[in-house]
Amino acid sequence: MTDHATFVTHLECSMTGTKYEADRLHNLSAEGWPLLLRYDLDGVARAVTRAEVAGRRGGFWKYRELLPVRNADNVIDLGEVVTPLIRLHASEREHGVSGEVLVKDEGRLPTGSFKARGLALAVAMARELGVQSMAMPSNGNAGAALAAYASRAGIESYVFCPADTPPINLQEIALQGAHVFCIDGLIDDCGRLVREGAPSMGWFDVSTLKEPYRIEGKKTMGIELAEQLGWTLPDVIFYPTGGGTGLIGMWKAFAELEHMGWIGSQRPRMVAVQASGCAPMVRAWEEGAVHARRWEHAATVAAGIRVPAAIGDFLILRAVRESGGYAVAVEDEAIDAARARAASRDGLLLCPEGAATLAAYEQGLAAGQVGRDERVVLFNCGSGLKYPMPDAARHLPDSVTDGQPRDWAALLGDG
Ligand SMILES: *Cc1c(COP(=O)(O)O)cnc(C)c1O
Repeated sequence: MTDHATFVTHLECSMTGTKYEADRLHNLSAEGWPLLLRYDLDGVARAVTRAEVAGRRGGFWKYRELLPVRNADNVIDLGEVVTPLIRLHASEREHGVSGEVLVKDEGRLPTGSFKARGLALAVAMARELGVQSMAMPSNGNAGAALAAYASRAGIESYVFCPADTPPINLQEIALQGAHVFCIDGLIDDCGRLVREGAPSMGWFDVSTLKEPYRIEGKKTMGIELAEQLGWTLPDVIFYPTGGGTGLIGMWKAFAELEHMGWIGSQRPRMVAVQASGCAPMVRAWEEGAVHARRWEHAATVAAGIRVPAAIGDFLILRAVRESGGYAVAVEDEAIDAARARAASRDGLLLCPEGAATLAAYEQGLAAGQVGRDERVVLFNCGSGLKYPMPDAARHLPDSVTDGQPRDWAALLGDG
């Protein structure tokens, strides 16, 4: 990455449109809503072509003209890659699909989840703007990404997690140099702690959508997807929705790409997938509401989407509506079953959140909300290896090491 002036012109309150200056550290707007970065898109379109960008090596930093980092020295490189689109042939056959079911496997990114995209941007901007300490609430993956990028940048990081966060997440966060704390509460309770501590501790609060940079990293999923599909978009995108950064970010990316003439006006239907034990967006969608009420007693195996309240709720719902998509909840049992099927038949170990999108796709096929001839992209946001799996191996009797002839059928049974 060479030095370049950013094409950022200003920031804008996502609710009121009030403008804010670029190149300064921001959290929420004065009105208390997420801020979005705006670019001189005509300038970007004059500066580079989509073919030039596609020809660059490496992961999402190749879209640097559409990102806010000014000085390339502030980029922290952990080996970001273009994540593959993997077809689920077995699922296609089972459901008689003539279209395509593609999984965008984000588990291949540094720290094993797509949170790397957002935190790479947030930490690079923090470095550029002189931040020395960052804090966030996390269900696991965001904290791991913050820890890794911040430690590498020499920035201190503090992560607050619900006590039942998957243990491996707490361990990776700690090992990657962050201060990690657990509380008996949910992610929004953790967020309150960060908010309270920020002024006296000097933390830059990097909670989801409470600063404007993570979403810029997440939007690169949409640019990358368009490039991978030859500058077209799929018919439907199934996105496991927690705080919604990825869904909102991709929707923003599509608008920017169209403005530059890199894609046309066709848009995927955006489907916000949640777990039935924590489905505030689905409830708001069904009620036709602008905002979502907090979901009480949230519980699901899909930790990454256990988000009872999201500050960007209206942006998620707006994108879903504009796209002609919908919001849908899936049961934990359906998540586990979809995860087992994809792993055993397609050789792809999804995280529970990713499996939720497969379950939602199958539900959508059955309900006629998705056509068998459509091209569908499911987001697998994290490595399946980070989550508990059922115990599986059978123990063979000690006598098998005796070197005697044996009855294999009797020994192994039909397992
Ligand atoms: C964070 C996370 C999500 C939710 O992503 P948002 O863009 O914040 O809605 C989904 N799955 C996994 C594995 C996550 O870590």
